[in-house]
Amino acid sequence: MEIIEGIIRAAMGWMVVFMFISAVIVVALAIRKHLIVTRNKQDINPCPRCGGEAVIIKMGETLSGEYWFILRCEECGYSDGWFYNDIETAIKEWNK
Ligand SMILES: [Zn+2]
Repeated sequence: MEIIEGIIRAAMGWMVVFMFISAVIVVALAIRKHLIVTRNKQDINPCPRCGGEAVIIKMGETLSGEYWFILRCEECGYSDGWFYNDIETAIKEWNK
């Protein structure tokens, strides 16, 4: 009986861990989706390193209520390392 109880307890423990991880993943995906600025994909050149799809990511808000943007490759994570405060400039620089 004790063995069965132990197994049930262990199973419930793993279930809690599993549910916690699922919740974290769902939240992370929701945030990520929110941060990526949807944009006409033809505007942005593919990644110079791997040819993957690049996305615009909205970063922190400045005191004046503007956002900073970075461009980053979805495939390999490459970024040109700059922050831009407007999307047009960000794309122009990335496409150079
Ligand atoms: Zn890439």
